[in-house]
This record gives sequence, structure tokens and C-alpha cells, in this order.
Amino acid sequence: MKTPRSTPEITLVGAGLAGSLLAIYLARRGFRVTLLERRPDPRKTGASGGRSINLALANRGIAALEEIGVMARVRPELIPMAGRMLHDEEGRLKLIPYGNKPHEVIHSVSRAGLNALLLDAAEATRRVSVRFGETVDGVDFTRRRVLPQQAPYDVLIGTDGSASAVRAAILERTGGRLDEEPLGHGYKELSIPPADGGGGGFRMEKNALHIWPRGEYMLIALPNIDGSFTVTLFLPTHGDESFDALTTPMAVLALFERRFADAIPLMPRLTEDFFENPTGHLETIRCAPWSFEDQALVLGDAAHAIVPFHGQGMNAAFEDCSAFDRCLEDPDRPWNEVFAEFERRRRPNTDAIADMALENYVEMRSTVREPKFQLKKDLSFRLEERHPGRFIPRYSMVMFHTMPYAEAQRRGAIQEEILDDLTGRASSVDDVDLARADRLIAERL
Ligand SMILES: Cc1cc2nc3c(=O)[nH]c(=O)nc-3n(C[C@H](O)[C@H](O)[C@H](O)COP(=O)(O)OP(=O)(O)OC[C@H]3O[C@@H](n4cnc5c(N)ncnc54)[C@H](O)[C@@H]3O)c2cc1C
Repeated sequence: MKTPRSTPEITLVGAGLAGSLLAIYLARRGFRVTLLERRPDPRKTGASGGRSINLALANRGIAALEEIGVMARVRPELIPMAGRMLHDEEGRLKLIPYGNKPHEVIHSVSRAGLNALLLDAAEATRRVSVRFGETVDGVDFTRRRVLPQQAPYDVLIGTDGSASAVRAAILERTGGRLDEEPLGHGYKELSIPPADGGGGGFRMEKNALHIWPRGEYMLIALPNIDGSFTVTLFLPTHGDESFDALTTPMAVLALFERRFADAIPLMPRLTEDFFENPTGHLETIRCAPWSFEDQALVLGDAAHAIVPFHGQGMNAAFEDCSAFDRCLEDPDRPWNEVFAEFERRRRPNTDAIADMALENYVEMRSTVREPKFQLKKDLSFRLEERHPGRFIPRYSMVMFHTMPYAEAQRRGAIQEEILDDLTGRASSVDDVDLARADRLIAERL
């Protein structure tokens, strides 16, 4: 039996970034929404550990936040980052702009702050109730109940992140497939406090994402509005230079002295942070199907967790919410068709960003240091100026545009071939045959 689409009650498991945003979209459509969240209310307890303290918000995420009318409240919380500030091993700095135009920046935002703002906005709709401290560990599809609470649902949506319990229940019931691809690298959050204990502002350039690229691994830092930076060390899990090898404060300091020397004076709590904070695990998760009949769906990281190197996991999850909302436009469409349509539209795109995020790790930790990278970046910007709207650097298509990710990936691959062809023997953009570039672009893009 199909549940009529007019069903008033939707249960969301997980009131993180996707869950709290989706609740607002659903409330705007007139649904009553219950959010079940295992953590305590972050507005009362502050951030709870385990995930990144701040994140990069880009155009796709902003488009969704604008759509639901909260962007005016989010904007004061943002710190624009205009490019990557590279720190080499001698401590020299070099800024590589992200985009070609002044507005092409990404924004550092507090995860807890954004989550709190979205929870406030969800509750303000008066159609959303959030129950904190509720861990869901299974689903009784026969009786349409969430377990162990025995809470009845009409429609259930899992926004419960990369270790999703709703996904596990759907896959068990459907005999579906789970593909977990560990990266073999983990991460550790560290910190750079504000200058002079808080009153003195930022200890490094504020409007940049700092990177210490070191080939097989890297350190990055994103600014926070209190003047601090959240620093993340990405490192292989096993091997000579790995988390396994860093078992003592001496070993941590030795690695930093060897490879990240200019960061040490900025990090007075380096070894304390290192041993107090957990080591995070990184993987790509794909699963199928995303839904079960007319009952349940997963969305956000629960459906497609990706590695964080393109800064797109949250942005993709927000884009999911907007895409799902569009699937609800026809009020007579049954839920099973809504779910199927959502999966059909989104899967090629979430697969594409999963691949591009993996590729971006190599770019951030290694390729970014090579002269050829800079040459291709310069040439990309020149070609974008010559062919606006036609040649758009792939990074810009992902971060500053909202075209489908799969389209950005497809066009990006063609552009990469064109760039390889044009830069074969060139050492600067002046050496490039731009007439040939124009011909290649006209033929291939
Ligand atoms: C180190 C790191 C850096 C990142 N940086 C960026 C970035 O710069 N930009 C970007 O766009 N993305 C970034 N991401 C990705 C981003 O964090 C995720 O894509 C995003 O949080 C996904 O949102 P979500 O709501 O789907 O999942 P989550 O944010 O994980 O939220 C899931 C929620 O469900 C709750 N929950 C889980 N299980 C249960 C259960 N069984 N019962 C009840 N509740 C449950 C959790 O407590 C949580 O509140 C980063 C990720 C990491 C790890």
C-alpha cells in the first residue's frame, strides 16, 4: 500500500547539517517534521568532538541557504578565503587565488554555529520538533517504527551521517550494496590560538586557506572568527611517517620540526592537542539503493560520504536538500517515485564529487607545489577570460558554480586534455599558442 503524498509526518534521523536544513525545506512544504538526534542540543552544550570544527562553505551550499532564506543570518559568521596560502619547507609563503574574479572565494564557517542557526530556523517554522539524546539503532519496516524508541513514522529520512543506522536498515531490508573505500590516511585537529590571547587578531593571513603541502601528506588551517585557526593534519595511517608512528610528544615535535617548522611557534598546545584529540578516519562511502519502497530514504553523508579535500561534503548535502525539495513539487507524486527520482538525479553527481574529492587530495598535498600546476592555473584563468562561460577552471565549476557535479567532471576532463596539449613545452602563458587554444576550445567544448 502506498502512503498518500499528503502524509503530514516526516521523521528525520540526525539533526546535523543536512537534517536541520532538510527539516526547514519540508516545513516550508507544509509537512510536520520530527528530528531525532543522538547528541545533546549543541546550542546548550557547544560543539561536540569528532568532526571538523570549521568548514568551507561554497556556492552550492550558499544557494540552498539563500533558497530557505537564512543567508542574511549566516553571512556575518563567514570568513572569506580568497585562495590557498602555501607554506613551503623554508617557511616562504605564496598565495594561489582560487578564482579569477574578486567574488570567487570560499568561506570558513563554524560547524556548530551553522548547525545551531539552522536548528533555530527549523524550530521557528513551528512545524519542526527536535528530540535530542535519541539514538536510532534500527527500523521496523513492517510496523513502520524507529527502534529502539518504537516511534511510529509515515516517512523516514536518514540524515544520520557516514555511519548511518537508517542506511544499514535499508540495505539489510533490500539486500543492497555498501561500498566503503578507506583512504588509508586519517586526520587530527589541532589549533592556532588568536594573537595575544585573543585581543590581537590573527597570527597568519586571515583571508586564506593555509596549506603546508608535503607530498604524501599535508597540514591545513582555516580561520575562525575569534582570531584562531583550526589546523588539520592529514597523514597516512601506517608507515614511517604516519599516525601509527606518532606515539610520543617527541615524535610529533620531530615531525613538525622536520616538515612544518614555521607552524610550531604558532601552536603552543601542539603536543597536548595531538594526544587529546581523536584521530579521524577518512573514507568514501557509496551505497545502493538509497531508499526502501515508499518508506525510507537516506540523504547527505548517509548516502554518499566523501573525503574532505574539495570542501564539498556539506555543500553536496545542502544541494541534496534542495534537489529533494524539487522532487516534491508535484503534490500527487507517491513517495516511492519521489525517492527514485531523487536518487536518479543525484547519484551521478554525488559519484562525480566523490571522485573529484579524492583527486583534490593529490592536488593539495603535492601537485600544487609544481611549476606546471601554476602554469596550468594561469592559463586556465587566461582562457576563462577569452571564453567566458565556455572555459571555466574545474575548481571554479565545483566551487563557484552550481552546474551538476557530473557536468563539471566531464568538462573538466576535456579542459585538462586541452591544458596538457597547450602547456607541453611552455614554461609560461606567454609561450602558449592562444590561437590554437581558441581552436581547441571551439572544437571540443
Ligand atoms: C575533517 C573534515 C573536514 C570537512 N570539511 C568540509 C568542508 O570544508 N566543506 C564541506 O562542505 N564539507 C566538509 N566536510 C564534510 C562534512 O562534514 C559532511 O559532508 C557533512 O557534515 C554532512 O552532513 P550530514 O548532516 O549528512 O552528516 P553529519 O554532519 O555527520 O550529521 C549527522 C547527524 O546525525 C546524528 N546521528 C548519527 N547517527 C545517529 C543515530 N543513529 N541516531 C540519531 N542521530 C544520529 C549525528 O549526531 C549528527 O548530528 C568535512 C568533513 C571532515 C571529516
